[in-house]
Amino acid sequence: DWILHNDEFIREEELNISKEDRGYQFGDGIYEVIRVYEGNLFTAEEHIDRFYESAEKIKVIIPYTKDVFHKLMYDLVEMNEIENGQVYVQLTRGAYTRQHQFPSDTAPVLIAYPKKLERPLELMETGVHAKFIEDIRWLRCDIKSLNLLGNILAKQEAYEAGCFEAILHRGEVVTEGSSSNMYGLKNGVLYTHPASNLILNGITRRVILNLCADLGIEVQELAFTKTQALEMDEFFMSSTTTEVMPIVQIDGQQIGEGVPGELTRKLQEAFEANLKLTVKS
Ligand code: PLP
Repeated sequence: DWILHNDEFIREEELNISKEDRGYQFGDGIYEVIRVYEGNLFTAEEHIDRFYESAEKIKVIIPYTKDVFHKLMYDLVEMNEIENGQVYVQLTRGAYTRQHQFPSDTAPVLIAYPKKLERPLELMETGVHAKFIEDIRWLRCDIKSLNLLGNILAKQEAYEAGCFEAILHRGEVVTEGSSSNMYGLKNGVLYTHPASNLILNGITRRVILNLCADLGIEVQELAFTKTQALEMDEFFMSSTTTEVMPIVQIDGQQIGEGVPGELTRKLQEAFEANLKLTVKS
């Protein structure tokens, strides 16, 4: 497999990362996951924009223009002959003698590599179970940071309870999933946490909100509570890899009829139509 290392394509065996890379020592970096459908990067521009925004928020300068970066991502997919999959890309502040403050003269380190991945079609049919877990993360969840301890501890707890995802909440208020955004539908209105510092504004979330506008589904970007979540008619999560994923049970309690809801289904169909359109264009 070919890996992108800064602006060079190399073989995995040739990759050499310093023991003092700040991503490794501090989680001092950012990342993106971009979906590949039929050899095409889906919503690449939106992911690239968010990557540059995350970099700016942690004060790292990406040494390429967005156009160059986009081309590197496409080349990576092509060179590895990825049809359906994803590209993982991360950028760290670089390597330097360990110290907390930023080094003054260190170049950032970029790594990107693809992986083959099918769409989770079966789970999208049946829906998944989720578990409420207190959101103990920091207050800049809008940054797609490499620091994911709060997320992975929550995901692990959910997995150990036999659940697919953790629904994070600060006190009573539901924020997002450990690696997804969360939505409830009540009386035909879609509710989701506003894009504040408490959530990552998912690219899939943005696609879904646009699809709601197309489908005439009213959207309220309003936080809801755990109690309200359990009383929703329908519930689902979204992410780059899970698309529109129905949640049919939370903490062992059935949501709505306990099967993927009608509007959730409509959104799944619209999402699929949208990705096929994008792939063809
Ligand atoms: N929220 C968190 C914490 C995430 O890690 C992710 C993605 O992995 C998302 C939301 C969904 O974002 P996207 O739709 O851009 O994949």
